Amino acid sequence: MSPPLGAMGYFCATRNNDIFFFGGYCGHEICFHNDVNSFNSLKYEWSNIIPTSDAVMKRSNGGMVCMESMGTEYLIMTGGIGSIPTTYQSQYQYIQMVNGRILTNEQNLLNLSTRQWIIPTISGQCCFPTAEFAIQKITNDKAVMFGGAVPSDDGRSLLVNTVYTCQLESDTTIHWESVKGPVVPASVQWPVERRKHAITSIIGDSPTLVMIGGEGNDGLVNDSWLLNTSQYQWSKIVLPESVTGRVDHSLSSIMMSPDCIWLVVVGGTGATEWKDVGRGYKQPFSKRITDPYITMLIELVLREGEWRVSEVLDSTGLTTEAYQHKYQLLLKNRQWWQDQFIVYPTDREIKLQNYVESLQQELRVSEGNKSSLQEALLEASQQEKTSRTSERN
Ligand SMILES: [Zn+2]
Repeated sequence: MSPPLGAMGYFCATRNNDIFFFGGYCGHEICFHNDVNSFNSLKYEWSNIIPTSDAVMKRSNGGMVCMESMGTEYLIMTGGIGSIPTTYQSQYQYIQMVNGRILTNEQNLLNLSTRQWIIPTISGQCCFPTAEFAIQKITNDKAVMFGGAVPSDDGRSLLVNTVYTCQLESDTTIHWESVKGPVVPASVQWPVERRKHAITSIIGDSPTLVMIGGEGNDGLVNDSWLLNTSQYQWSKIVLPESVTGRVDHSLSSIMMSPDCIWLVVVGGTGATEWKDVGRGYKQPFSKRITDPYITMLIELVLREGEWRVSEVLDSTGLTTEAYQHKYQLLLKNRQWWQDQFIVYPTDREIKLQNYVESLQQELRVSEGNKSSLQEALLEASQQEKTSRTSERN
């Protein structure tokens, strides 16, 4: 199929070689979408997973993750802002903002095998209606959400710095928990309220999340954080403003070796500015990030149990010969690490395998013996018959 409409603020998640897109805002009036499309990054092909329907709220700027329950994979859409829904689900909240748009905490499950919508049951402490937050999967059935904009009492946006976890408990239930912030704020590091930030994960026994950028109450937050997901402890990492000074960007991580991660930051815009459009009216606008800072690469290395920044490259740095050489070397190194994931059998497993083989051999022998025994019996009975017949004669 031809590519779908390139709506803004779509929800996005990946699974193997597929990238899934849900909803978005098309740019005119209050026009939001709720169809799901996927792009296969190997075949470069688009597919429509599910067309637009009245089952789920049309919206943008929420979050989506792909999770698994009992061997089936689901896309989970959560939160966002959109047009007045056709169907109100009683377990969720829909709050109208001053600009007429609806902020929600509606959640939808899409079964990727049957391609059917499921409206899940929610347990625990669910998040408020939120948009422009970041959500990142940390295990097959669990994700972490941070920040975003919630409605204030007067229908405007209020930025938050809350952490929630959500877990797919069954094919119809999502369990939410609020992770408590610092009890003594001064003694614990905790990021300020923000929206339009980006989060990715560094895979480990309990993954570490990396958060970069976003916009706070006083403009760009200009910082980066790590979140340990076993203790839910934040720690700051220092990166240049050319990396952190952006909103609405993407952030991915690539494991080069168990102690070396490459983070890739792409695109986004700078701070929101106000343009005078005459007659005392001002309109918000923001400048897109331009080269050489559109694509940035950050190398993190693990030293004494802590992730540290070892190198930051912009597109000028990425095209140097020294970097190309390093990239080739790291790719070889990465292949070597991937080869280590092939599991070789242990001594005990080899012994067991030999034992199973000897049992199978014995079985074949005894089966052979059994058939020769049957043949012998048959022969004996025939001989008996023959001898009886000859006796009678
Ligand atoms: Zn439209």
